Amino acid sequence: MKQNNIIQNLQKLFPSPKCELEYESNYQLLVAVILSAQCTDKRVNIVTRELFKDYGTPEAMLTLTQSQLEEKIHSCGFYRNKAKNILSMTKDLIDKFDGQVPNDLAKMQTLAGVGRKTANVVLAEAFKGDAIAVDTHVLRVSNRLGLVTTDNPEVCERALMQTFDRKHWSKLHLQMVHFGRYICKSQRPECAKCPFKKICTTDKQHKI
Ligand code: SF4
Repeated sequence: MKQNNIIQNLQKLFPSPKCELEYESNYQLLVAVILSAQCTDKRVNIVTRELFKDYGTPEAMLTLTQSQLEEKIHSCGFYRNKAKNILSMTKDLIDKFDGQVPNDLAKMQTLAGVGRKTANVVLAEAFKGDAIAVDTHVLRVSNRLGLVTTDNPEVCERALMQTFDRKHWSKLHLQMVHFGRYICKSQRPECAKCPFKKICTTDKQHKI
């Protein structure tokens, strides 16, 4: 079956995929995931290594003004929105959950600035929950492998959850992220290294 083929080959390529964001608490992971939108994990780690030295807890983060935080996260891009979201999320976290990130997808999404993808990443990584977070890599790879034909992350997430057994979800997310980041890249995918040429629905492999 196609899904077994995908699981087996991703397992060979990335047997022990790890989240590449650096963090020391669930709160720091949540902040890092917010910063990672449209930004590389490498850049986020450079920024958070400094940021979390003095502002790695919700209480410490709220001592920063919006413009002070903007300055610290400037290089991650979209810094105004990200600073606003981090401060609103942090305030919500303290007000609603006593500063603790909730182990619950729906509750996490009640935090300002926390969408479904962010909540799914944190749920899977911090709480080892079963979740498939659909980011830009997972969405692209899912379409190219013919698992979906949609540009809607939620539609893609539902389709992946139906296609793959629950026990695979969290690892599959990381494997697809790594596959999309290092092989099936948005521009110039490395099709020569790809085990999925036969099932790939794009014609990119014929062009390079
Ligand atoms: S053949 Fe190329 S475009 Fe298709 S899935 Fe593999 S790396 Fe991606």
